[in-house]
Amino acid sequence: MNSLRMLRPAAIRVALASRARMAQSAVVLKPSLNSTTRIITRPLSIKSLFASKGDNDQSTSIKQPILSQDNLFHPLSESPIPEIRDRATIIKKYGTCPVCNEEHHGDRASMHSPEFECPDCGHPTHCCEEHYHKGKAEHDKICGILREHNEDEHDLRSGRPMKEFEFPSAQGFDEAINMANWDVFFYTRSFPSMDSDRNMRHVSKLLTYPITIGSVLHESSPYKKQVTPEGLRSLAAIRSILYPKVILAKDGVTMLKTETVNLYLLGARAESTLPPHIWLQLSHLFPQTPFHLHFIGPDTLPPNREPYTTFLNDRLTFTYDNAMYHDYHEKIGSFDPYRDIYFLFAPGIGHPDSREAWKPSIAKALDTKCAMFITGFDQTDVQTDVKAVEEDHGEDFDWILKPTENHFKSLKHDINLQDLTQAICANWGIWGIRGKRYEVTHNQEDD
Ligand SMILES: [Zn+2]
Ligand SMILES: [Zn+2]
Repeated sequence: MNSLRMLRPAAIRVALASRARMAQSAVVLKPSLNSTTRIITRPLSIKSLFASKGDNDQSTSIKQPILSQDNLFHPLSESPIPEIRDRATIIKKYGTCPVCNEEHHGDRASMHSPEFECPDCGHPTHCCEEHYHKGKAEHDKICGILREHNEDEHDLRSGRPMKEFEFPSAQGFDEAINMANWDVFFYTRSFPSMDSDRNMRHVSKLLTYPITIGSVLHESSPYKKQVTPEGLRSLAAIRSILYPKVILAKDGVTMLKTETVNLYLLGARAESTLPPHIWLQLSHLFPQTPFHLHFIGPDTLPPNREPYTTFLNDRLTFTYDNAMYHDYHEKIGSFDPYRDIYFLFAPGIGHPDSREAWKPSIAKALDTKCAMFITGFDQTDVQTDVKAVEEDHGEDFDWILKPTENHFKSLKHDINLQDLTQAICANWGIWGIRGKRYEVTHNQEDD
């Protein structure tokens, strides 16, 4: 069964932003209220998650807490939150009892749906209490994660003020950012209200996308040991743009703003649904650099939506396009390893269903000699993609970043509702490659 494949689009997708809303809100800092009204009928409001101080509109009326902090655990089927009760329904409809599964060797006809809810995590795990006790030792391996997830989901919808989503603005010039891990990042960037592991899980699930990018490109990147000599050359080229003092020394020209750096996010899914202001946190890491983010791939926009380009401010431009990358590539024409970079978030390059489709896109990207960074949601996912790239493009690339655990993975687990034994963390691991025969021809006029 293709359970992990099914998990990809659904579970990794960030449910906090509807696509329609994003299209409307991309040019303004805060989403408009109208587009969230449908959601306000539910206890979780996107608006409430991202509202900032002094943001007084009618959505404040739903900020009355409906669940206190000592009342966050509920069996899913008895949750006061309709959305969470829906999860129980989905698990019961599409899941199977793991003990039945074992006994009937995967013969679905003989299996029973998980009706019995584990008292410790509140998830429907087994067909009956007897099978629950029989399979308990195995279930205990993930019960704690499911319990945590249960409480986190209730907390998100508890109606409390989500102060951890009040993100800091630009960094002072005398303050150094440390990118060693989430803890010191939050500390040195002065994130308010990052008081608990739960706060960090909520925020890391959103920020894993921009900050994973930032942590690779930043001068204080934590991957000193994993970056290869070829990788150092690639990153030195990119950093000569990101940190303009290098340009000043070389050209003797005063440039307050650097050239635009293009980030090509191939196979975009969850990252293309993030509210644009989340990407400000990438921008703040490189205060002199304008970024143009290109979200490319068939899941970027709902079907039949025309591609479009929008901007948040003069340093953040976004293009959304459902094209396959190898087609989009032709539209761009020329590439520059100094200021064009690829990021692929859990692309599933090695998955049998998508491997063929990825081949021409990866080949085009390698042709450019631009750096390409790829994440995976667990060790197996990373290994599967690495193996496929080695088999399909073996002669054509150099390693720039050896596979390693991502210091800025999502700390929150995503649960596969069809198979509760599977829990993953978005962007768990990261690695990087670049087309062979590195010859930089930096074209200054080409802007
Ligand atoms: Zn059973
Ligand atoms: Zn349990």
